[in-house]
Amino acid sequence: MRKLTSVAKAADDMRSHIHFCAETGQIWLHEHRMLLVHAEAQALLRKELIDTLGMARARGLLTRMGYASGMRDAELARKQMQDVDDMEAFMTGPKLHTLEGIVRVTPIRVEMDRPRGHFYGEFLWENSWEGQSHRQYYGIHHEPVCWTQIGYASGYTSAFMGRRILYQETECVGAGNSDCRIIGKPVEEWDNAEEHLRYYNPESIADQLIDLQTQVTHLRSSIGEKESLPKHMIGTSPGFRQAYGLLKRAADSQIPVLLLGETGVGKEVFARALHGCSPRANGPFVAVNCAAIPPELVEAELFGVEKGAYTGAQSSRPGRFERASGGTLFLDEVGDLPSPAQAKLLRVLQEGEIERLGDTRPRRVDVRVVAATNADLSRLVQEGRFRLDLYYRLNAYQVHIPPLRERKEDISPLSKAFIDKYATLHGKKLRGFTDKAKRALLSYNWPGNIRELQNVIERSVILAPPGTRVEAEHLFLAKRDGQPSELGLDADGALNAQSWQSGARLCEAVLNGVCTLDEVESMLLEAAVAKAKNNLSSAARLLGITRPQLAYRLKRMQESGQAKADVIMGKT
Ligand SMILES: [Zn+2]
Repeated sequence: MRKLTSVAKAADDMRSHIHFCAETGQIWLHEHRMLLVHAEAQALLRKELIDTLGMARARGLLTRMGYASGMRDAELARKQMQDVDDMEAFMTGPKLHTLEGIVRVTPIRVEMDRPRGHFYGEFLWENSWEGQSHRQYYGIHHEPVCWTQIGYASGYTSAFMGRRILYQETECVGAGNSDCRIIGKPVEEWDNAEEHLRYYNPESIADQLIDLQTQVTHLRSSIGEKESLPKHMIGTSPGFRQAYGLLKRAADSQIPVLLLGETGVGKEVFARALHGCSPRANGPFVAVNCAAIPPELVEAELFGVEKGAYTGAQSSRPGRFERASGGTLFLDEVGDLPSPAQAKLLRVLQEGEIERLGDTRPRRVDVRVVAATNADLSRLVQEGRFRLDLYYRLNAYQVHIPPLRERKEDISPLSKAFIDKYATLHGKKLRGFTDKAKRALLSYNWPGNIRELQNVIERSVILAPPGTRVEAEHLFLAKRDGQPSELGLDADGALNAQSWQSGARLCEAVLNGVCTLDEVESMLLEAAVAKAKNNLSSAARLLGITRPQLAYRLKRMQESGQAKADVIMGKT
């Protein structure tokens, strides 16, 4: 190992490069502007950081501050010292640290092989500013405290070596030793690197503050805009806000709007909202699902019929366009329109005129058209199934409504709105969702979007006992790997199992007063007992209740004089 130049002496040499320029109020070291600050003021600032942020956060912040300035100085050292050897160039850092009055650095052992990435450095730190000031305010600490300085050494050496070098204090004046001692070596060579590295990672208070600030802004805007949101428009997610913002901007004009999005995302709700905030709000809103009308009837349905237009047209009647006059016509699944109807639709959009079937007289209509589709219209155009000119006309103003899985923030408010709606509708008092149910709602992918959510929640309202909270099992009947599964649900969230349909019919029967809840219960008990071949214990297991509970219910049935119960009890 070559002999190291005395750092203190080298720092003295460097001192000759300092220039105080009283005229401009600047201090220069070579070409770098320096500051001369009160150590006491600096110490107070450090104390305030600790008191405000807590020891651990302040430590992270100070370490990273040191690291950043160490990296700067290393770049400077490497750039300026191209004509000296590595070791001398490296010593610029310790010199600066000494010169700046932060700590007196004495190298004990330094091994460096830059091309091979080898580094080992051991230094004695005397009069550490940071250690002394920490001790002054907080007494002796249980571990080393020269965080900024350790950060500086780590940043400086890492940048200089071009690989991650971590320093640790083995002794520290702040921890009760007479001086500080530091050792630096590559991160991989430390057994306990992990516990130190976390202070270098910007878990960042700044990030957390920005996060909080974003949330506040978000909440503020949602509070502000909530009042202006039309009924049934529920959402605070950026995707929803963006779509709604676009929609609102189109409200005042006549431009046809094309709503795009997967099935169940709420296109009709958007269309109604557009109508509601447009100058036509007092006019009619007419919705047509183009896919639901047989192709041969579409034209008559949309544009009306004159008496005698075809066999069976015994009287004249207006179509949906005329009925929507002065208001808005919502054409859902517009991609399914047959081609003659497409031509007529284009004519209305261009000239504001329609002709009833079997009529030659054009009629003026004042209708705003909102179309929607979950199909890829441009593909339909390529396949020759949709008119290009109509496509351009409709596509002029498109609003994409994001799928529910891309607006997870909206699941909770939507769920709440639906549970309120259906609890009222079914005359049932519920206390919301259990935490597990909330988690299940959030973790599910919702391929059927809001319509599926709505169906799932309506069913859960029916299934949950009154006065309770809706449980995950009420929402998703079958579970697999702890995830809600689609078993038993189609894309619209409707149960497709036959058993469920008959269950639904049973609910209907009870709700319509066809049979009573007691009758349903006795049917269920009867079925369980029959299935268990009159073994009450296994019948109870089938029902998920205990044998005494089952016996009690059967007894109650018997007492209320139900014949079937007698039969059951007689058999057992
Ligand atoms: Zn120390």
